[in-house]
Amino acid sequence: MSTYQDQLIKLSQIDKAIDDFEPQIEQIKSTLNKELAKEQELIKKLEQLQESLKENELTRRKNELHLEELSEKLKSLSKKNKAIKTEKEMKALQLEEEIAKEQIDFANEEIARLDKNRELMSSEIQELESSIESMQENIANVKEEIEQELKDIEQKRMTVFQDKEKLVSEMNHNIIVFYEKIRRWAKNTTVVPVKKQACYGCYMKINDNVYSLVLQAKEITTCPHCGRILYKDQTLEEEPVDQEVSA
Ligand SMILES: [Zn+2]
Repeated sequence: MSTYQDQLIKLSQIDKAIDDFEPQIEQIKSTLNKELAKEQELIKKLEQLQESLKENELTRRKNELHLEELSEKLKSLSKKNKAIKTEKEMKALQLEEEIAKEQIDFANEEIARLDKNRELMSSEIQELESSIESMQENIANVKEEIEQELKDIEQKRMTVFQDKEKLVSEMNHNIIVFYEKIRRWAKNTTVVPVKKQACYGCYMKINDNVYSLVLQAKEITTCPHCGRILYKDQTLEEEPVDQEVSA
């Protein structure tokens, strides 16, 4: 195999390895991101509950004030009672008293209802707070775990980058430019093996002429159909001849 071919195969393997790091990193981070999203959801729920509780307390306070007003009103009505002269006046006063008492009953019922609400919301808030707390502990653990994993990957990535730098420095510049031009569209299938006289990029048969050039491996040969760089797969010779080509 020519040095050119050898270098190109190596370069394409390094580039693929570099591309493979990103999904690995994403995969590792996705565990943490899912936990963080759950935490945000709970925090939002907690804030909404706290807001509702605040409104509950405001409404309760309004009802208490209303109760104070009503009890003042009852007092003044009972004072007026002593100064009543006619039956008509008495009836009007009684009616006013009845209405005030009804309003008092209603306000008391409201306060009882709001107290029950408060109790429910408070216990829900407590539950949420403890859920969030244990979630945060979990998140801290996950963070610690993935930090180490990410460090390991970063280490590997640095090594691969160094390998690439070294390889590129040894390669002919024109060949790198040629390779990069194909790589722009062919990505990680820029350099592909030929198996059963077929290009493993586009899976088309190549003619005998091109095939013999690939076998000789003296110069860089591209697929006449797709333009990818071809090389003869060294592992091919041991493969059974009638094995199906899988795409
Ligand atoms: Zn091809």
